[in-house]
Amino acid sequence: MEKSPQQKGEIGKITKVQIEMHQHQAAQFSFPRKCACCGAPATRILPLKHHVSGEQYQGLTTAKTSADLIFPVPYCSVCHEHSARSEKGNMTIGIGCFSFLVCLAVVILARFTSIISFSPVWVVVIGATGLAAVIFVILGARMMKSGSSFRSQACTSEDSAVSIVGSSVSTMGLICVLGFTNKEYANSFVDANRQFHARFT
Ligand SMILES: [Zn+2]
Ligand SMILES: [Zn+2]
Repeated sequence: MEKSPQQKGEIGKITKVQIEMHQHQAAQFSFPRKCACCGAPATRILPLKHHVSGEQYQGLTTAKTSADLIFPVPYCSVCHEHSARSEKGNMTIGIGCFSFLVCLAVVILARFTSIISFSPVWVVVIGATGLAAVIFVILGARMMKSGSSFRSQACTSEDSAVSIVGSSVSTMGLICVLGFTNKEYANSFVDANRQFHARFT
């Protein structure tokens, strides 16, 4: 099979980069303006969100607070499509599974305890919610599958090309480890973010 010149990475391999920041600096990171998946010129942004818990911020600030960091990850239009679809599909499957488990728990409680007693209205509500949950899972799976038609040979990722591997707190601030599927992109990111002590781990 002929390989495109951009195909350097293999799907499944992650390059980890550690960065240090103070609060709310995520938006100041410099993401090189090319696709984080295939390396083509970037035309779109897909925000990568990471929730930092109050405990992680303790010691950094006097107030116990939590924050949502947002990393603006650039993609070409094709890779934006497979990343966004897989993200939405994942979320839809998650909501479906969660709703189904809640329904199951309600049914078990009603069947084996006297905490909940079912009226006919409840049976309809739980039945409809359970059915909706199953439909969500099916829709989510279809969304993820539809994303795969937007992958090219140059793609280094089947879904999102950048992920949060972990985060912790140091005396310097918040340490975040980002995972890149495109090694060349990870190199450019490290070069562009020296002021945040970006380095490979
Ligand atoms: Zn791309
Ligand atoms: Zn791609």
